[in-house]
Amino acid sequence: MTDQYAEFRREVREWLAAVERPIGLRDYGGTPESDDVGPGRLWHRMLADAGYACMAWPVEHGGRNSSVYEQAILAEETARAEVPRQLNIVGPDLVGPVIIRFGNQDQKRRYLPAIREGEHLWCQLFSEPEAGSDLASLRTRARHEAGSWVIDGQKVWTSAAADADYGLLIARTGEERYAGLTAFVVDMRSPGITVRPLRQLDGASKFNEVFLSDVRLPEDALLGTVGQGWSVVTATLGQERLSLGAQAVGMFEALRTVANAARDRGLLDDALREEITQQWCRITLLRETWLRAVSVETEPSSSAFSVLKLVSSEIYRDLGDFATAALGMDALIFDEPLVQRMLVGRAQTILGGTSEIQRNILAERVLGLPR
Ligand SMILES: Cc1cc2nc3c(=O)[nH]c(=O)nc-3n(C[C@H](O)[C@H](O)[C@H](O)COP(=O)(O)OP(=O)(O)OC[C@H]3O[C@@H](n4cnc5c(N)ncnc54)[C@H](O)[C@@H]3O)c2cc1C
Repeated sequence: MTDQYAEFRREVREWLAAVERPIGLRDYGGTPESDDVGPGRLWHRMLADAGYACMAWPVEHGGRNSSVYEQAILAEETARAEVPRQLNIVGPDLVGPVIIRFGNQDQKRRYLPAIREGEHLWCQLFSEPEAGSDLASLRTRARHEAGSWVIDGQKVWTSAAADADYGLLIARTGEERYAGLTAFVVDMRSPGITVRPLRQLDGASKFNEVFLSDVRLPEDALLGTVGQGWSVVTATLGQERLSLGAQAVGMFEALRTVANAARDRGLLDDALREEITQQWCRITLLRETWLRAVSVETEPSSSAFSVLKLVSSEIYRDLGDFATAALGMDALIFDEPLVQRMLVGRAQTILGGTSEIQRNILAERVLGLPR
């Protein structure tokens, strides 16, 4: 690590320690629940004012052109301080870079400042009931009619849709599997949109079903050109994995919580000690691999980040299973963040491309194995 990066880490850590957090702010991860949106917006604005929002964006759009390493340092330090890194992942990490790349001047002027300052919450309208891993088979349609785009179809698992101001939609404008897909910006308050929250195991509703029935979008809702939707999809999905390796800090904390709880209950025998050591080794390897990846990779959408997505989500899931096996029912009642991690770990092996899909990417694109 160079002096410059060490200095940046120190600067971020000091700022996080000194800043007064908005009332009600909690570490909600990449997606706020409804009650988190207010404190999350305020917090994002504070990050933006300090120069820590949308750091990867070019300077001309209010970013700092930050390296992958600097972004990762921010992700790690916010995880350590147990605060979110931004209002949500979709606007700053996914949509912003896509608008910078595919949007026209007017779209850049209209959408980018509000994302950067945490004013607009965005959602990602990609997955459908019959199209998840195989996203290119999606069936939501967009047709051009009298100067508008008319959308009909259904999306599912749309995180934050119930509170979102805008959505990035992929819809079918032609029959060709990839060339028949087109990207649109959707005002989530448009007539014809119905958002139905999906209730999770923990009682929260972070994601939703979204029904689009005869939704009329203006001509300039088109992002990029007709048929460019698949390029927008690949550019978007690649951005999601960067911050995941930074979660190692939180994992050490979770493991320590379980170890202390086991010790307090007189459960810490040799077998448990060995298992704790094994988990500790896996987390250490994850952190070292992440540090190596962010110091050699300059492109956040590199396929190599698939390994971090794969390993971090599976360690999280395994930590939850381990806590339950070691502590029994106590794992469910004594530590709320641990329970959250157990549940989120399982979800993370699915979102942004499942573990099987990450293994396929690694096999084909990184190791060069046949399909
Ligand atoms: C917490 C969470 C938040 C999400 N947020 C959003 C969001 O905001 N917007 C959005 O659009 N989507 C979102 N998703 C949806 C997510 O992208 C999909 O769930 C994911 O892509 C998997 O698709 P699927 O659920 O249709 O499963 P399927 O694709 O039907 O997969 C079912 C099983 O088959 C396996 N499988 C499928 N294809 C292959 C293959 N080729 N090789 C090997 N195994 C395979 C999968 O690994 C999985 O185990 C979210 C999901 C979760 C869990």
